[in-house]
Amino acid sequence: MAEWEAVVGLEVHVHLKTRTKMFCRCALEYGAHENTRTCPVCLAFPGALPVPNAKAIEHTIKLGLALECEIAEHAVFARKNYFYPDLPKGYQISQYEKPLCGRGRFLLPTAGGDEEIGIERAHLEEDAAKTVHAGGETGRTIGAEYSLVDFNRGGTPLLEIVSRPDIRSADQALRYLRLLRQTIVELGISDAEMEKGTMRADVNVSVRERGENGFRPRWELKNMNSFTFIGRGIEAAVRQQVAAYEAGKTLEQSTYDYDPDLDRLTVHRSKEEADDYRYFPEPDLVPVDPPRELVERLRGELPKLPAARIRRIAKELSVAAADELVSTGNDHKAQLLAERGVDWQTAANVAMNEPDFLDANAAAIAAIVKARDTLTREAYDGAFAAARSVSIDAAEYLAQIAVSDTGELDPVIESILAANPQQVETYRGGKEGVLGFFVGQVMKETGGKADPKVVNELLREKLKA
Ligand code: ZN
Ligand code: MN
Repeated sequence: MAEWEAVVGLEVHVHLKTRTKMFCRCALEYGAHENTRTCPVCLAFPGALPVPNAKAIEHTIKLGLALECEIAEHAVFARKNYFYPDLPKGYQISQYEKPLCGRGRFLLPTAGGDEEIGIERAHLEEDAAKTVHAGGETGRTIGAEYSLVDFNRGGTPLLEIVSRPDIRSADQALRYLRLLRQTIVELGISDAEMEKGTMRADVNVSVRERGENGFRPRWELKNMNSFTFIGRGIEAAVRQQVAAYEAGKTLEQSTYDYDPDLDRLTVHRSKEEADDYRYFPEPDLVPVDPPRELVERLRGELPKLPAARIRRIAKELSVAAADELVSTGNDHKAQLLAERGVDWQTAANVAMNEPDFLDANAAAIAAIVKARDTLTREAYDGAFAAARSVSIDAAEYLAQIAVSDTGELDPVIESILAANPQQVETYRGGKEGVLGFFVGQVMKETGGKADPKVVNELLREKLKA
């Protein structure tokens, strides 16, 4: 049987973090009362003219630089024409032939070296308003009694990043998305939160036999807003397409919906209804010619990017562990601890599980982590709880040493055993669960300061006799 491979391309949309909308001065505010952040421009009153948001252009160029894109010297806004109630102008202002960012690439570090995902383009556009379908069970058009439109979102600056069809598995798609998201967040250009709708992706999937050139018709999954469903959607598309080809069928390009309950794709729109957007240059806006000085200034502002940090941390941990640490944004805390003498593996574990300590407490936390085995549980947990919000003094916690000195614990244990002859008998009769009772007694007697590991060892020793 033929060996199949997936061919995946992703179009990622993120809301840019700006004070105002893309082409007007309305404030960008999530959760504001419906239709209170609107004006003649974003409501498309006749004669109202758009003015581009300079910050959004800068954010887009920054992302382009991070993805090694060619930055246009001459970018053009274009009208993408289509009708929908959430689009009052009857067109979206986007970019078509001359986007701000052209060809680039994004590198995913792996144990076997970097995987390169080509970037086709990254362009700037405006988001549509939000349609709310009310009265139905699913919140979708079908079954709804009526629909309402909230124009607050209409005109939000939207950055679209289009990858080349270079992705070969659901796993790789997710690694790409996570690292891209972290890069976007660290550039400070977007919160890119899927749950809040500030990041979403269109997923294009086809399959082909290994070694085959060219591409077969693709299926599009639009507006996906969960990493989990993107992964499952890709896997379902691959399964269904392979099954169809192996049954001798031909497929055509269509839009599909992923149904999580059925774990399969159902057709949304077929090719006969394929969009023709009749793009043309936006006559109300002049082209954008980003000055070289601006581009160079933005290049100078780029922070050390996640992929580079993964490569560096992978010298200390596995690439997968480094990827997880960086993609969750927790590597900074691990780094702070490692710099202060905590071994990398421990530093990574602490940073993944307890990343909320203030940077200013790094030295204290490092000292406490290193002394972990000698501290009482209370002291250890207490230090982390406090370190989230106030500056802590390590000495205060390091003083709460667990008693592990056998000379000190011996008499305590002896007297407890002497006071509980019946339990001693029970233990020696084979019911080792009684050990917990003795440990509890020792803890009580020492005010919780005994080292439980040592207490366990001592008790077993003495009860053996
Ligand atoms: Zn407006
Ligand atoms: Mn778009």
